[in-house]
Amino acid sequence: MRRIAILGSTGSIGRQAIDVIARHPDRFSVMALAANHNIEQLAHQANELRPAVVSAGTPDLAARLADLLAYRPQIVASGAAGLMLSSTQSQADVVVAATDGMAALQAVTAAVRAGMHVALANKEVLVGAGRYLCGLARTSGARIIPVDSEHSALFQCLVGEHVSSVATVVLTASGGPFWDFEREQLERATPEDALRHPIWSMGAKNTIDSATLMNKGLEVIEASHLFDLQPEKIRVVVHRQSIAHGFVVFADGNVKAQLAAPDMRLPIGYALAYPERLPAPVALTRTSEAIGLGSTRSVLTFEPVDDRRFPSVRLAYNALHAGGTYPAVLSSANEEAGRAFLQRKIKFTDICPIVEQALAAHPAGADGLEEIEAADRFGRTFARDAIGAAMQR
Ligand code: MG
Repeated sequence: MRRIAILGSTGSIGRQAIDVIARHPDRFSVMALAANHNIEQLAHQANELRPAVVSAGTPDLAARLADLLAYRPQIVASGAAGLMLSSTQSQADVVVAATDGMAALQAVTAAVRAGMHVALANKEVLVGAGRYLCGLARTSGARIIPVDSEHSALFQCLVGEHVSSVATVVLTASGGPFWDFEREQLERATPEDALRHPIWSMGAKNTIDSATLMNKGLEVIEASHLFDLQPEKIRVVVHRQSIAHGFVVFADGNVKAQLAAPDMRLPIGYALAYPERLPAPVALTRTSEAIGLGSTRSVLTFEPVDDRRFPSVRLAYNALHAGGTYPAVLSSANEEAGRAFLQRKIKFTDICPIVEQALAAHPAGADGLEEIEAADRFGRTFARDAIGAAMQR
């Protein structure tokens, strides 16, 4: 029986993790659930799964949560302390890190320091603090298993291989909803256009990042941290069907790829069960159809990223080359600019220039935990000022 703590249980990844866990009650039990403000859903999840620890975003929300519970957990907590209790005090074996932003940085760091098995889906934490956390994991013996589909693909291709024999890793990008848009159409793109994502269903933040392709830029940085690879060894190709999630090209010319239906429950299940594989995988029929074992013809295409219309991948490489706290600035400035676009404060084509300006304005420095948090705040503050200026125009 594997005991699971889920940080961010009401988000897209958290809900899908619970879906996987609920299909395998003989394998998994839930020890802790932590969420931010969606108290009704958190209470519903907790009443079903009866974890010992539940945590909400604030003390007020935790008090409301306690009123909605049909049982008495050992701990009802809130905020950063609640995330910490959920990860390291819940007697879980596996921590699923699926919160947004940097809220769970301390809790994830504690889990890695304690040598736990961490299923890592929190992009901001991995982008901003990935090098730090992966270094920490090497000394503590913690196992960080990526939940993102592309990194799960690379991880699966690299099982049993030496990183020294990797020539290139390739991350695939769906291209997002605007891949076929001309520059002029991008100027006029609306949040509704962006949220009409063709293949993956995911949160609004990820959907905007998919439209700008910044999602793939962030994933380049994540791959560099997770697999300890130089930026030159990481490539991105656009693959509209989202069936092949990643390739590893080895020094001898052989290539391994991982293919699966675009369903996040597959990488989530892999990360939860690693090194085993779950016996009754979801979406097996969809996977079979996708790779041509079904009744229809399946065509897979691959093409290069258009840097002129989608400069975000180049910005991410710049941040990765600059190193230190620059990835944290890229991530937080992008988050603010993406949100401002969703709120109709700025144009779609304003997002990347704001991120680029934030990177240019950020001073170089060390990359300890405090510096990473400070860089995260710098990116946000800079972007908010730039958004305000863009709104005046
Ligand atoms: Mg991904």
